[in-house]
Amino acid sequence: MAGHGEVRIPFGALQRVAEAVLTRAGSEPGEARVVAEHLVRANLAGHDSHGVGMIPYYVRFVGEGLLRPNTPARLLADEGSILRFEGARGYGQRVAREAIAAGIERCRALGVSVVTLRHAHHVGRVGTYGEQAAEAGLVSLHWVNVQDHPPLMAPFRGSDARFGTNPVCVTIPRPGREGPILLDMATSRIALGKVRVLMNKGEPVPPEHLIDHQGRPTRDPGVMFRQERRGALLPIGEHKGYGLALVAELLAGVLSGGGTIQPAIPRKGAIVNNLFSVLLDPGRFGDPEWMRAEIDAMVAYAKASPPADPDEPVLVAGEPERLAAAERKRHGIPVDAVTWEEILEAGERVGLGRGEAESLAGLGSGGG
Ligand code: NAD
Repeated sequence: MAGHGEVRIPFGALQRVAEAVLTRAGSEPGEARVVAEHLVRANLAGHDSHGVGMIPYYVRFVGEGLLRPNTPARLLADEGSILRFEGARGYGQRVAREAIAAGIERCRALGVSVVTLRHAHHVGRVGTYGEQAAEAGLVSLHWVNVQDHPPLMAPFRGSDARFGTNPVCVTIPRPGREGPILLDMATSRIALGKVRVLMNKGEPVPPEHLIDHQGRPTRDPGVMFRQERRGALLPIGEHKGYGLALVAELLAGVLSGGGTIQPAIPRKGAIVNNLFSVLLDPGRFGDPEWMRAEIDAMVAYAKASPPADPDEPVLVAGEPERLAAAERKRHGIPVDAVTWEEILEAGERVGLGRGEAESLAGLGSGGG
């Protein structure tokens, strides 16, 4: 059932809409498919912040020349175990996928590889790259920093934004099990896209996640979307989350050569990501059977902790996303009314008629 003010769209249909808009915005079909699939899978995983709601921004950034369709990842340097790539403001979902694919091949050959990617446009949900490596049987670690965009997150003890929401991701494959351990998190207490989703739904942000332009606590998601007097997100875990954001900033920003968010680097207003990834072949570290059994035993041990709330059993990282995907595959992906309208408008701007988009989405006239 669709909730009030939202449409529910089957994931295949939503992907067709996304591909149609991206193709009209200038992407070759292969690129449109990769980007659309990434976005819709983020929705499936429950991360609407990194799903199709980004399309209107991408269309605008393409129009402004800040996001460049049909740009592949370019190899800057091959140092054996280290591969360095340039993203040149291409779709991050594409260039990061290509860079990680090269890293997977290298890791298979050497047992370890390190991939850097600089100047990609928004790489989206970082867990996608963890999944890509896990599907190849590899462990992976990823750090990302954000540039081009105004800073969003305050340092611990600060009162204004000086960082992006710098995500960190660690993925451990579990062959033969339902899916990998997939820790994929922003270092802010809440991702900006989730603040946007709450603003679109007219709902407040949970307490102690946001400060206003004067550093005072607020629950108003609107403070993050003002041109002037913008508020800031707070880091997870006080000084510890701030520390994680700082090392993501430096690993991804400095080792990639792309730079950090410090103000001497120009900001044009889109979203540029730099990525630092380490891939490891677990087969080179010991007996795969023993590893598999030990991971199973540890996961079972953690999950057997009696839940503090009987309705909320202990989960492991990656499980909430799998549960969301199972539900959304069955019942469709909920898209709030504001986001759906923005997608339709973005489509119209690049020549995709409203009726055509609605029919691709399987929505009759009036939708819902
Ligand atoms: P989140 O808080 O929903 O989840 C973070 C992690 O916690 C996930 O690995 C999840 O599986 C795990 N988790 C959630 N509930 C759990 C539970 N009850 N028990 C055990 N584990 C649990 O995610 P987030 O921090 O809001 O990040 C959302 C997405 O935003 C991520 O995919 C991230 O890559 C992306 N992101 C991207 C950028 C960018 O610039 N490209 C920036 C920030 C965030």
